[in-house]
Amino acid sequence: MRVRVTLRSPFGPVVTRDISGGIWVEPAGEPDAHVGRESWALPGLADAHSHLAGEHITDPGDVEGAIERARDALAAGVTLLLDKGWRDTTTIDAIRQTPSIERPEVEAAGAIISVLDGYFSGFGRVIDPGDIGAAVESEARRGLGWVKLVGDWPRRGIGPVANFDASQLREAVSSADAAGAKVAIHTMAPEVPGLAVRAGVHSIEHGLFLSEEDLEVLGARGGMWVPTVLRVEETIKQLGETSSGGRLLSEGLQNVCRLLPHAVEAGVRVLAGSDLVGAPADIAGEAVRLAELGLSARHAVKAVGFAAFEATGRSTGFDPGSPANAVLFPDNPVAAIGVLGSPTTVIRLGVLR
Ligand SMILES: [Zn+2]
Repeated sequence: MRVRVTLRSPFGPVVTRDISGGIWVEPAGEPDAHVGRESWALPGLADAHSHLAGEHITDPGDVEGAIERARDALAAGVTLLLDKGWRDTTTIDAIRQTPSIERPEVEAAGAIISVLDGYFSGFGRVIDPGDIGAAVESEARRGLGWVKLVGDWPRRGIGPVANFDASQLREAVSSADAAGAKVAIHTMAPEVPGLAVRAGVHSIEHGLFLSEEDLEVLGARGGMWVPTVLRVEETIKQLGETSSGGRLLSEGLQNVCRLLPHAVEAGVRVLAGSDLVGAPADIAGEAVRLAELGLSARHAVKAVGFAAFEATGRSTGFDPGSPANAVLFPDNPVAAIGVLGSPTTVIRLGVLR
């Protein structure tokens, strides 16, 4: 059966493609079905900071739940998922075994790398900071294209402390580059974003205390920033708004709101990430929140897919020969961002659902 799809993107020309063998091809002959003529299309949604293994950070790693979450994400239109690591690679190994057609495409970090007292106790891979090159190399080998570092973490009675210095971060990046992986770094405190950006880290996670200068440097190389605003708001609630941690994060969130428009102007790929607030299937909510907090609707929609595809070297224009992935909406999401949460059709490797 030959299916033809009209793909009207808010970010490019309207194109018409046929599906053949799971990829887009130029239209030819009379199709058996033609969909999308009344719809708007994106190449898929993307969750750029998820943890498929868990619903909470203390979860030991719930393999069946992970596969379920991946399936649910696809049903919601998520065709790309960047998993930013867990305590080990059990779930990622299981995801690898799950047929691609049943889940989003997944890139993933291996075990999250931190130092003693530098993250949730006993979670992930604790290293001596001097060993970062070797640790990054081995996690790059175990993961799927990413390595995750915890850049800073609060110490009781002291506040946030950097886990690695500038030269260690540079070593991490060169080690990941050599292994063909990208580095993502968790940072919620003031000192680390500038170090990480200048060390060449590919993606800044949270990044509450980035500066305009940091964004210029990050944007010049098309780097990624995943502000996870719903995660930050949730953490402020958990810590209490008047606690020292809550006040620091609130200050950081204000900084994020101020910086969002500058970031996209500077060429930074601002991306939506769920980070255990809801499931990856709920990622549209992060885009809606980014728009409420000051990102233009156009860039908020890009944040939840398009920009992630670009940043990871994927096709965004439904090019012939590329995987036939798309998500269709009844309205233009840039004009009505709420439609992101209710796609009418999801196409994954040529299969319509
Ligand atoms: Zn996270």
